[in-house]
Amino acid sequence: MTVREVYPEEKISSSSLLHRSLNDSPHLVEKAIGSYLYLQNGTKILDSCGGAAVISVGHLNQTVIDRMADQLRCLTYVHTLEYTSSPSEILAEKLLENYHDQIGKVFFATSGSEASEGAYKLAIQYFFERGLTTKTKFISRNQSYHGNCLAGLSLSGHKGRRAPYEHILNSDFHKISDTNEYRGKLKHESTDDYVKRLVDELESKILEIGPENVAGFFAETIVGATAGCVLPPKNYFKGIRQICDKYDVLLILDEVMCGSGRTGTFFAWEQEDIVPDITCSGKALSSGYAPLSAIFIGHKIIKTLSNGSSAFNNGHTYQSFPLSCAAANVVQDIISENNLLQNVKNQGNYLGECLSRKLQNLKSVGNIRGRGLFWAIEFVKDKLSKEPFDPSVKYGYRVQKTAWSNGLAVYPGSGTIDGHYGDHILIAPSFDVSEDLIETITNIIAQSIQDCENKYL
Ligand code: PLP
Repeated sequence: MTVREVYPEEKISSSSLLHRSLNDSPHLVEKAIGSYLYLQNGTKILDSCGGAAVISVGHLNQTVIDRMADQLRCLTYVHTLEYTSSPSEILAEKLLENYHDQIGKVFFATSGSEASEGAYKLAIQYFFERGLTTKTKFISRNQSYHGNCLAGLSLSGHKGRRAPYEHILNSDFHKISDTNEYRGKLKHESTDDYVKRLVDELESKILEIGPENVAGFFAETIVGATAGCVLPPKNYFKGIRQICDKYDVLLILDEVMCGSGRTGTFFAWEQEDIVPDITCSGKALSSGYAPLSAIFIGHKIIKTLSNGSSAFNNGHTYQSFPLSCAAANVVQDIISENNLLQNVKNQGNYLGECLSRKLQNLKSVGNIRGRGLFWAIEFVKDKLSKEPFDPSVKYGYRVQKTAWSNGLAVYPGSGTIDGHYGDHILIAPSFDVSEDLIETITNIIAQSIQDCENKYL
Protein backbone atom coordinates (compact mmCIF):
# COMPACT_ATOMS: atom_id res chain seq x y z
CA MET A 1 0.00 0.00 0.00
CA THR A 2 1.32 3.46 -0.84
CA VAL A 3 0.92 6.64 1.20
CA ARG A 4 -1.04 8.10 -1.72
CA GLU A 5 -3.60 5.32 -1.29
CA VAL A 6 -3.87 5.97 2.45
CA TYR A 7 -4.12 9.76 2.12
CA PRO A 8 -5.49 10.26 -1.44
CA GLU A 9 -6.90 13.76 -1.00
CA GLU A 10 -4.57 15.19 1.60
CA LYS A 11 -2.12 17.95 0.71
CA ILE A 12 0.98 17.87 2.89
CA SER A 13 2.03 21.31 4.09
CA SER A 14 4.72 21.73 6.72
CA SER A 15 3.45 24.91 8.32
CA SER A 16 1.28 23.78 11.28
CA LEU A 17 3.28 20.97 12.88
CA LEU A 18 5.94 22.09 15.35
CA HIS A 19 9.03 20.24 14.20
CA ARG A 20 12.23 19.84 16.22
CA SER A 21 13.65 22.86 14.39
CA LEU A 22 11.61 25.93 13.54
CA ASN A 23 14.02 26.71 10.71
CA ASP A 24 14.67 23.42 8.92
CA SER A 25 12.04 21.30 7.22
CA PRO A 26 12.48 17.60 7.96
CA HIS A 27 12.48 15.04 5.14
CA LEU A 28 9.05 13.58 4.45
CA VAL A 29 9.39 9.78 4.58
CA GLU A 30 6.61 8.07 2.62
CA LYS A 31 7.59 4.51 3.34
CA ALA A 32 10.26 2.54 5.21
CA ILE A 33 10.85 -1.12 4.37
CA GLY A 34 13.56 -3.36 5.81
CA SER A 35 16.69 -1.22 6.01
CA TYR A 36 15.58 1.54 3.64
CA LEU A 37 13.67 4.82 3.90
CA TYR A 38 11.78 6.05 0.83
CA LEU A 39 11.26 9.80 0.63
CA GLN A 40 8.46 11.72 -1.02
CA ASN A 41 10.91 13.06 -3.62
CA GLY A 42 11.80 9.52 -4.71
CA THR A 43 15.12 9.28 -2.86
CA LYS A 44 16.03 5.95 -1.24
CA ILE A 45 18.14 6.11 1.93
CA LEU A 46 19.91 3.24 3.71
CA ASP A 47 19.00 3.50 7.39
CA SER A 48 22.04 2.63 9.51
CA CYS A 49 20.76 4.06 12.78
CA GLY A 50 17.00 3.35 13.02
CA GLY A 51 16.38 6.96 14.05
CA ALA A 52 18.06 7.06 17.45
CA ALA A 53 18.88 3.33 17.76
CA VAL A 54 15.22 2.30 17.75
CA ILE A 55 14.78 -0.28 14.98
CA SER A 56 15.63 -3.88 15.91
CA VAL A 57 13.72 -6.03 13.38
CA GLY A 58 13.68 -3.76 10.34
CA HIS A 59 10.98 -1.45 9.04
CA LEU A 60 7.54 -2.69 8.00
CA ASN A 61 8.00 -6.28 9.12
CA GLN A 62 4.80 -8.00 7.99
CA THR A 63 4.67 -10.45 10.91
CA VAL A 64 4.74 -7.58 13.41
CA ILE A 65 2.10 -5.65 11.51
CA ASP A 66 -0.22 -8.66 11.24
CA ARG A 67 0.00 -9.41 14.96
CA MET A 68 -0.61 -5.76 15.80
CA ALA A 69 -3.65 -5.75 13.52
CA ASP A 70 -4.93 -8.90 15.29
CA GLN A 71 -4.50 -7.13 18.63
CA LEU A 72 -6.43 -4.08 17.40
CA ARG A 73 -9.26 -6.34 16.32
CA CYS A 74 -9.71 -7.73 19.84
CA LEU A 75 -8.60 -5.13 22.40
CA THR A 76 -7.34 -1.58 21.98
CA TYR A 77 -7.38 -0.25 25.55
CA VAL A 78 -7.94 -1.12 29.18
CA HIS A 79 -7.22 1.04 32.19
CA THR A 80 -4.70 -0.65 34.46
CA LEU A 81 -6.35 0.39 37.73
CA GLU A 82 -8.69 -2.57 37.52
CA TYR A 83 -7.80 -4.46 34.37
CA THR A 84 -4.91 -6.06 32.60
CA SER A 85 -4.40 -7.45 29.10
CA SER A 86 -2.93 -10.64 27.66
CA PRO A 87 -0.16 -8.98 25.61
CA SER A 88 1.21 -7.10 28.64
CA GLU A 89 1.13 -10.20 30.88
CA ILE A 90 2.72 -12.38 28.17
CA LEU A 91 5.41 -9.78 27.44
CA ALA A 92 6.33 -9.45 31.12
CA GLU A 93 6.70 -13.25 31.44
CA LYS A 94 8.68 -13.43 28.22
CA LEU A 95 11.13 -10.69 29.19
CA LEU A 96 11.74 -12.07 32.68
CA GLU A 97 11.90 -15.72 31.60
CA ASN A 98 15.69 -15.88 31.85
CA TYR A 99 16.07 -13.31 34.60
CA HIS A 100 13.85 -14.47 37.48
CA ASP A 101 16.88 -14.69 39.78
CA GLN A 102 17.82 -11.06 39.20
CA ILE A 103 14.54 -9.27 38.51
CA GLY A 104 11.26 -9.33 40.44
CA LYS A 105 8.86 -7.47 38.15
CA VAL A 106 8.65 -5.19 35.13
CA PHE A 107 6.58 -2.02 34.66
CA PHE A 108 5.64 -0.84 31.14
CA ALA A 109 5.36 2.82 30.15
CA THR A 110 5.59 4.49 26.76
CA SER A 111 8.78 6.59 26.58
CA GLY A 112 12.32 6.34 27.87
CA SER A 113 11.75 9.60 29.75
CA GLU A 114 8.81 8.03 31.60
CA ALA A 115 11.00 5.06 32.48
CA SER A 116 13.70 7.33 34.00
CA GLU A 117 11.10 9.36 35.84
CA GLY A 118 9.49 6.18 37.17
CA ALA A 119 12.83 4.69 38.23
CA TYR A 120 13.68 7.86 40.13
CA LYS A 121 10.31 7.85 41.93
CA LEU A 122 10.56 4.14 42.64
CA ALA A 123 13.96 4.60 44.32
CA ILE A 124 12.60 7.32 46.59
CA GLN A 125 9.51 5.28 47.41
CA TYR A 126 11.67 2.26 48.26
CA PHE A 127 13.56 4.16 50.95
CA PHE A 128 10.40 5.98 52.09
CA GLU A 129 8.74 2.64 52.78
CA ARG A 130 11.77 1.55 54.76
CA GLY A 131 11.40 4.70 56.90
CA LEU A 132 14.56 6.21 55.38
CA THR A 133 12.87 9.42 54.32
CA THR A 134 16.03 11.49 53.92
CA LYS A 135 17.35 9.22 51.19
CA THR A 136 16.13 11.36 48.28
CA LYS A 137 19.27 12.58 46.50
CA PHE A 138 20.83 11.14 43.36
CA ILE A 139 24.23 11.02 41.74
CA SER A 140 24.73 10.74 37.99
CA ARG A 141 27.50 11.51 35.50
CA ASN A 142 28.55 14.55 33.52
CA GLN A 143 28.06 13.35 29.97
CA SER A 144 24.77 11.52 30.19
CA TYR A 145 21.20 11.68 28.97
CA HIS A 146 18.28 10.28 30.93
CA GLY A 147 15.25 11.90 29.29
CA ASN A 148 13.37 15.08 28.71
CA CYS A 149 11.09 15.33 31.74
CA LEU A 150 12.31 17.20 34.79
CA ALA A 151 13.80 14.37 36.84
CA GLY A 152 15.43 12.86 33.75
CA LEU A 153 16.81 16.24 32.75
CA SER A 154 18.02 16.89 36.30
CA LEU A 155 19.88 13.58 36.12
CA SER A 156 21.26 14.36 32.66
CA GLY A 157 24.53 16.08 31.96
CA HIS A 158 23.23 17.23 28.57
CA LYS A 159 24.00 20.93 28.88
CA GLY A 160 22.21 21.98 25.71
CA ARG A 161 18.91 20.41 26.68
CA ARG A 162 19.18 21.59 30.30
CA ALA A 163 20.10 25.22 29.56
CA PRO A 164 16.71 27.02 29.70
CA TYR A 165 15.60 25.10 32.79
CA GLU A 166 18.73 25.16 34.95
CA HIS A 167 16.95 27.20 37.64
CA ILE A 168 14.17 24.66 38.16
CA LEU A 169 16.20 21.48 37.76
CA ASN A 170 16.44 19.65 41.03
CA SER A 171 19.53 20.53 43.05
CA ASP A 172 19.27 17.17 44.81
CA PHE A 173 21.00 15.69 41.78
CA HIS A 174 24.79 15.64 41.91
CA LYS A 175 27.25 14.93 39.12
CA ILE A 176 30.51 13.02 38.98
CA SER A 177 32.88 12.30 36.09
CA ASP A 178 31.71 10.32 33.11
CA THR A 179 33.80 7.35 32.05
CA ASN A 180 35.69 7.84 28.83
CA GLU A 181 39.01 6.08 28.36
CA TYR A 182 39.76 8.07 25.20
CA ARG A 183 39.24 11.42 26.94
CA GLY A 184 39.36 10.91 30.69
CA LYS A 185 42.17 8.41 31.33
CA LEU A 186 45.46 10.14 32.08
CA LYS A 187 48.45 9.50 29.83
CA HIS A 188 50.34 7.11 32.10
CA GLU A 189 47.35 5.83 34.05
CA SER A 190 46.45 2.14 33.81
CA THR A 191 42.80 1.20 33.25
CA ASP A 192 42.73 -0.26 36.79
CA ASP A 193 43.94 3.02 38.27
CA TYR A 194 41.49 4.98 36.13
CA VAL A 195 38.64 2.79 37.34
CA LYS A 196 39.78 3.15 40.94
CA ARG A 197 39.83 6.93 40.56
CA LEU A 198 36.28 6.94 39.16
CA VAL A 199 34.92 4.57 41.78
CA ASP A 200 36.64 6.55 44.56
CA GLU A 201 34.98 9.66 43.18
CA LEU A 202 31.54 8.07 43.65
CA GLU A 203 32.42 7.07 47.19
CA SER A 204 33.68 10.58 48.01
CA LYS A 205 30.52 12.13 46.57
CA ILE A 206 28.29 9.81 48.65
CA LEU A 207 30.27 10.72 51.78
CA GLU A 208 30.11 14.43 50.93
CA ILE A 209 26.29 14.33 50.54
CA GLY A 210 25.92 11.86 53.39
CA PRO A 211 24.98 8.21 52.70
CA GLU A 212 21.79 8.76 54.72
CA ASN A 213 20.70 11.25 52.01
CA VAL A 214 21.59 9.34 48.84
CA ALA A 215 18.95 7.18 47.16
CA GLY A 216 20.57 6.18 43.89
CA PHE A 217 23.37 6.27 41.37
CA PHE A 218 22.05 6.62 37.81
CA ALA A 219 24.16 5.78 34.73
CA GLU A 220 23.84 4.61 31.15
CA THR A 221 25.59 1.24 30.94
CA ILE A 222 27.01 2.42 27.60
CA VAL A 223 26.67 6.16 27.08
CA GLY A 224 24.56 6.89 24.03
CA ALA A 225 23.68 10.21 22.46
CA THR A 226 25.69 12.72 24.48
CA ALA A 227 29.15 11.28 23.89
CA GLY A 228 28.63 8.44 21.40
CA CYS A 229 28.76 4.79 22.50
CA VAL A 230 31.22 5.26 25.34
CA LEU A 231 31.96 1.88 26.91
CA PRO A 232 32.58 1.52 30.65
CA PRO A 233 36.19 0.63 31.42
CA LYS A 234 36.70 -2.98 32.50
CA ASN A 235 35.50 -3.60 36.08
CA TYR A 236 34.08 -0.07 36.43
CA PHE A 237 30.55 -1.25 37.20
CA LYS A 238 31.84 -3.97 39.54
CA GLY A 239 33.48 -1.23 41.62
CA ILE A 240 30.38 0.96 41.40
CA ARG A 241 28.16 -1.95 42.50
CA GLN A 242 30.34 -2.51 45.59
CA ILE A 243 30.18 1.17 46.59
CA CYS A 244 26.39 1.27 46.10
CA ASP A 245 26.02 -1.83 48.30
CA LYS A 246 28.36 -0.42 50.94
CA TYR A 247 26.23 2.71 51.39
CA ASP A 248 22.76 1.26 50.69
CA VAL A 249 22.46 3.26 47.46
CA LEU A 250 20.43 1.85 44.55
CA LEU A 251 22.24 1.23 41.27
CA ILE A 252 19.94 2.32 38.44
CA LEU A 253 21.09 1.63 34.89
CA ASP A 254 19.53 3.46 31.96
CA GLU A 255 19.56 1.14 28.95
CA VAL A 256 16.93 2.99 26.94
CA MET A 257 19.40 3.36 24.07
CA CYS A 258 22.03 0.65 24.63
CA GLY A 259 19.75 -2.13 25.89
CA SER A 260 17.04 -4.56 24.68
CA GLY A 261 19.63 -6.61 22.77
CA ARG A 262 21.50 -3.81 21.02
CA THR A 263 24.89 -4.97 22.34
CA GLY A 264 24.28 -8.72 21.90
CA THR A 265 22.73 -9.52 25.28
CA PHE A 266 19.25 -8.41 26.29
CA PHE A 267 20.71 -6.23 29.04
CA ALA A 268 24.02 -4.49 28.34
CA TRP A 269 24.89 -4.96 32.05
CA GLU A 270 25.13 -8.74 31.53
CA GLN A 271 28.53 -8.08 29.94
CA GLU A 272 29.68 -6.12 33.00
CA ASP A 273 29.16 -9.02 35.40
CA ILE A 274 26.85 -7.08 37.72
CA VAL A 275 23.12 -6.81 38.35
CA PRO A 276 21.62 -3.36 38.92
CA ASP A 277 18.64 -2.75 41.22
CA ILE A 278 16.62 -1.06 38.48
CA THR A 279 17.03 -1.03 34.69
CA CYS A 280 15.26 1.32 32.28
CA SER A 281 14.68 0.10 28.71
CA GLY A 282 12.89 1.45 25.63
CA LYS A 283 13.55 2.07 21.95
CA ALA A 284 14.60 -1.33 20.43
CA LEU A 285 12.22 -3.16 22.79
CA SER A 286 9.32 -2.59 20.37
CA SER A 287 11.46 -1.67 17.34
CA GLY A 288 9.52 1.53 16.71
CA TYR A 289 6.24 -0.24 15.89
CA ALA A 290 4.52 1.35 18.92
CA PRO A 291 5.85 3.39 21.86
CA LEU A 292 7.04 1.24 24.75
CA SER A 293 9.49 1.52 27.62
CA ALA A 294 10.09 -0.67 30.65
CA ILE A 295 11.38 -0.45 34.21
CA PHE A 296 12.90 -3.73 35.39
CA ILE A 297 12.79 -3.90 39.18
CA GLY A 298 14.93 -6.02 41.48
CA HIS A 299 13.54 -8.38 44.15
CA LYS A 300 14.54 -6.34 47.17
CA ILE A 301 12.53 -3.35 45.97
CA ILE A 302 9.47 -5.44 45.12
CA LYS A 303 9.69 -7.15 48.52
CA THR A 304 9.84 -3.81 50.35
CA LEU A 305 6.85 -2.45 48.43
CA SER A 306 4.90 -5.70 48.96
CA ASN A 307 5.48 -5.51 52.70
CA GLY A 308 4.69 -1.79 52.75
CA SER A 309 2.13 0.15 50.74
CA SER A 310 1.76 -2.79 48.31
CA ALA A 311 1.73 -0.48 45.28
CA PHE A 312 4.15 1.41 43.03
CA ASN A 313 3.10 5.01 43.51
CA ASN A 314 3.26 5.81 39.80
CA GLY A 315 0.63 5.36 37.10
CA HIS A 316 0.06 6.45 33.52
CA THR A 317 -3.11 6.35 31.42
CA TYR A 318 -1.25 4.44 28.71
CA GLN A 319 0.90 2.15 30.86
CA SER A 320 1.03 -1.47 29.64
CA PHE A 321 -0.66 -0.32 26.42
CA PRO A 322 -1.93 -3.51 24.72
CA LEU A 323 -0.88 -2.57 21.18
CA SER A 324 2.66 -1.64 22.27
CA CYS A 325 2.99 -4.86 24.27
CA ALA A 326 1.62 -6.90 21.35
CA ALA A 327 4.22 -5.28 19.08
CA ALA A 328 7.06 -5.95 21.53
CA ASN A 329 5.92 -9.57 21.96
CA VAL A 330 6.29 -10.32 18.29
CA VAL A 331 9.51 -8.27 18.03
CA GLN A 332 11.00 -10.38 20.84
CA ASP A 333 9.75 -13.60 19.16
CA ILE A 334 11.41 -12.59 15.89
CA ILE A 335 14.66 -11.83 17.72
CA SER A 336 14.74 -15.20 19.47
CA GLU A 337 13.40 -17.36 16.58
CA ASN A 338 16.03 -15.92 14.23
CA ASN A 339 18.83 -15.93 16.79
CA LEU A 340 19.29 -12.23 16.17
CA LEU A 341 21.29 -11.56 19.35
CA GLN A 342 23.99 -13.81 17.89
CA ASN A 343 23.76 -11.81 14.67
CA VAL A 344 24.16 -8.61 16.72
CA LYS A 345 27.38 -10.05 18.17
CA ASN A 346 28.75 -11.36 14.85
CA GLN A 347 27.83 -8.39 12.70
CA GLY A 348 28.81 -6.06 15.53
CA ASN A 349 32.34 -7.47 15.47
CA TYR A 350 32.38 -7.17 11.69
CA LEU A 351 31.11 -3.57 11.87
CA GLY A 352 33.88 -2.69 14.34
CA GLU A 353 36.47 -4.33 12.09
CA CYS A 354 35.23 -2.53 8.95
CA LEU A 355 35.12 0.84 10.70
CA SER A 356 38.71 0.45 11.96
CA ARG A 357 40.00 -0.78 8.62
CA LYS A 358 38.31 1.87 6.50
CA LEU A 359 38.45 4.90 8.78
CA GLN A 360 41.56 4.68 10.91
CA ASN A 361 43.73 6.63 8.48
CA LEU A 362 41.27 9.46 8.01
CA LYS A 363 42.60 12.66 9.59
CA SER A 364 39.45 13.70 11.47
CA VAL A 365 38.68 10.29 12.97
CA GLY A 366 39.79 10.43 16.61
CA ASN A 367 38.14 7.40 18.17
CA ILE A 368 36.04 4.46 16.93
CA ARG A 369 34.18 2.69 19.73
CA GLY A 370 31.21 0.50 20.40
CA ARG A 371 29.83 -2.94 21.11
CA GLY A 372 27.32 -5.11 19.28
CA LEU A 373 25.39 -2.95 16.83
CA PHE A 374 26.04 0.27 18.74
CA TRP A 375 29.03 2.17 17.36
CA ALA A 376 30.23 5.75 17.21
CA ILE A 377 33.00 7.66 15.51
CA GLU A 378 34.34 10.66 17.40
CA PHE A 379 35.82 13.42 15.27
CA VAL A 380 38.78 15.61 16.16
CA LYS A 381 40.53 18.54 14.55
CA ASP A 382 43.90 17.11 15.51
CA LYS A 383 44.39 13.39 15.91
CA LEU A 384 47.54 13.59 18.02
CA SER A 385 46.44 16.18 20.55
CA LYS A 386 42.76 15.02 20.34
CA GLU A 387 41.81 18.67 19.98
CA PRO A 388 38.10 18.77 19.20
CA PHE A 389 36.52 20.89 16.48
CA ASP A 390 35.15 24.23 17.51
CA PRO A 391 31.47 23.53 18.27
CA SER A 392 30.44 26.20 15.75
CA VAL A 393 31.89 23.99 12.98
CA LYS A 394 29.27 21.30 13.82
CA TYR A 395 31.52 18.73 12.19
CA GLY A 396 29.41 15.76 13.34
CA TYR A 397 26.33 17.30 11.76
CA ARG A 398 28.27 18.02 8.58
CA VAL A 399 29.32 14.38 8.32
CA GLN A 400 25.72 13.32 8.93
CA LYS A 401 24.39 15.66 6.24
CA THR A 402 27.07 14.50 3.78
CA ALA A 403 26.26 10.85 4.48
CA TRP A 404 22.59 11.66 3.85
CA SER A 405 23.47 13.21 0.47
CA ASN A 406 25.40 10.00 -0.21
CA GLY A 407 22.30 7.92 0.58
CA LEU A 408 22.91 6.92 4.20
CA ALA A 409 21.15 7.86 7.46
CA VAL A 410 23.43 8.05 10.54
CA TYR A 411 22.61 9.64 13.90
CA PRO A 412 24.49 12.88 14.64
CA GLY A 413 26.01 14.11 17.86
CA SER A 414 27.67 17.45 18.05
CA GLY A 415 30.34 18.98 20.23
CA THR A 416 27.89 21.80 20.86
CA ILE A 417 26.18 19.46 23.32
CA ASP A 418 28.76 20.13 25.99
CA GLY A 419 30.86 22.67 24.20
CA HIS A 420 34.04 20.63 24.55
CA TYR A 421 33.86 17.15 23.09
CA GLY A 422 31.55 14.51 21.77
CA ASP A 423 31.44 15.52 18.09
CA HIS A 424 30.43 12.20 16.62
CA ILE A 425 28.09 10.14 14.48
CA LEU A 426 26.32 7.05 15.77
CA ILE A 427 25.55 3.84 13.87
CA ALA A 428 22.95 1.41 15.19
CA PRO A 429 21.52 -0.79 12.43
CA SER A 430 18.68 -3.26 12.76
CA PHE A 431 19.59 -6.56 14.48
CA ASP A 432 19.13 -8.47 11.18
CA VAL A 433 21.76 -6.43 9.31
CA SER A 434 23.91 -8.43 6.86
CA GLU A 435 27.63 -8.33 6.09
CA ASP A 436 26.88 -6.83 2.66
CA LEU A 437 24.93 -3.99 4.18
CA ILE A 438 27.72 -3.34 6.68
CA GLU A 439 30.16 -3.10 3.76
CA THR A 440 27.89 -0.54 2.08
CA ILE A 441 27.29 1.42 5.30
CA THR A 442 30.99 1.66 6.14
CA ASN A 443 31.98 2.54 2.54
CA ILE A 444 29.53 5.44 2.51
CA ILE A 445 30.72 6.61 5.94
CA ALA A 446 34.36 6.53 4.82
CA GLN A 447 33.49 8.47 1.64
CA SER A 448 31.41 11.01 3.57
CA ILE A 449 34.16 11.71 6.11
CA GLN A 450 36.65 12.07 3.27
CA ASP A 451 34.28 14.52 1.54
CA CYS A 452 34.06 16.56 4.77
CA GLU A 453 37.83 16.53 5.28
CA ASN A 454 38.30 17.81 1.71
CA LYS A 455 35.87 20.63 2.42
CA TYR A 456 36.49 21.60 6.04
CA LEU A 457 40.02 20.59 7.05
N1 PLP B 1 17.62 7.56 28.35
C1 PLP B 1 18.48 7.42 27.34
C2 PLP B 1 19.80 6.76 27.59
C3 PLP B 1 18.16 7.86 26.05
O1 PLP B 1 19.03 7.72 25.04
C4 PLP B 1 16.88 8.46 25.85
C5 PLP B 1 16.51 8.94 24.52
O2 PLP B 1 17.29 9.08 23.61
C6 PLP B 1 16.02 8.59 26.94
C7 PLP B 1 16.41 8.13 28.18
C8 PLP B 1 14.68 9.22 26.76
O3 PLP B 1 13.87 8.41 25.98
P1 PLP B 1 12.63 9.01 25.19
O4 PLP B 1 13.16 9.92 24.13
O5 PLP B 1 11.94 7.79 24.64
O6 PLP B 1 11.78 9.74 26.18
